Amino acid sequence: MRVYNFSAGPSMLPLEVLEEAQKEFLDFAGTGMSVTEISHRDKAFSAIVEEAEANLRELMNIPDNYCVLFVQGGASQQFAAVPLNLMHNGKADYIVTGNFAKKAWQEGKIYGDARMVASSEDKTYTYIPDVDKIAFNDDSDYVHITSNNTIFGTRYIKFPKTKAPLVCDMSSEILSREVDVNQFGVIYAGAQKNLAPAGVTIVIARKDLIENPLPICPTMLKWKTQADNGSLYNTPPCFSIYMANLVLRHLKKIGGVKEINKINEYKAGLLYDFIDNSSYYTNNVVKEFRSIMNVPFVTPSKETDEKFVKEAKAEGLVTLKGHRLVGGMRASIYNAMPVEGVKKLIEFMKKFEKENA
Ligand SMILES: *Cc1c(COP(=O)(O)O)cnc(C)c1O
Repeated sequence: MRVYNFSAGPSMLPLEVLEEAQKEFLDFAGTGMSVTEISHRDKAFSAIVEEAEANLRELMNIPDNYCVLFVQGGASQQFAAVPLNLMHNGKADYIVTGNFAKKAWQEGKIYGDARMVASSEDKTYTYIPDVDKIAFNDDSDYVHITSNNTIFGTRYIKFPKTKAPLVCDMSSEILSREVDVNQFGVIYAGAQKNLAPAGVTIVIARKDLIENPLPICPTMLKWKTQADNGSLYNTPPCFSIYMANLVLRHLKKIGGVKEINKINEYKAGLLYDFIDNSSYYTNNVVKEFRSIMNVPFVTPSKETDEKFVKEAKAEGLVTLKGHRLVGGMRASIYNAMPVEGVKKLIEFMKKFEKENA
């Protein structure tokens, strides 16, 4: 039986996509081979990379002066790739709005003067600092932000206007809402939240920014290496790219980012409304910054939190345990989580409250 999986990542994929992959698993595109067996130099495979790029460009409206790369190493690897490609003057600004944002900043400090210009750690990352009041440095090579904070359940509702290129970790919300790519110098995202199984990481970079990686930048971390080779410099994560393409096709079919954003707002709205109208459950994120992807919440005690997670699992609502830094529960309701999954969670929450309040 398939359950509703609220995992923060790797997370649910659309059932239709999984079934399609299953159907052609042994014989991919008439090659008589599985996509897991085929050479990345085979035309049938490079066609997939090209289609995935075209689909992503269409869905996100990515302008021609940006390159789209499929790389490995996860978003965490990009924490290093960003300074190694961009930190020409050895200086950068970071906004620290959560655990991953902090890790990116700490990685940046290995390579130069990475300055934390704003943080929401004072209130355990329950809000996003006012981007209009941040004093960015004039000499920065880039400004780094994390648009959706997976662990704490916040998101930017407005992005800062910066002189230096804005670099954004969009791992946990890419393709969940419309963004204007032109606002950013670089966008990167690990695929395993909203796009594909783990293994591939998307980098969308303005072409003029990839030309001068630092001399110490490893070949594999140079965005230019991947750009010059159509993401096929070495063996790419073939299966993840193939799955990403199926997810992108699926997203196009259901109406694109605009449509999925509506559904995401609806799902998150149902859950937040229920939590806000309940005296039993709490979400302590400042309302305007609430994520529509990750919804952390607690019951009145640690004991009932634990009981909640256990009993929910028995009902087919799994991986609801919150991150160890936050405790309680976290419902990750990415693109692939059906509305019915959220409704079933709310029904369970009602029942649990009645039995335990
Ligand atoms: C999950 C996540 C990461 C880490 O991604 P990996 O692919 O595991 O390196 C980084 N940033 C954000 C915002 C995330 O949600």
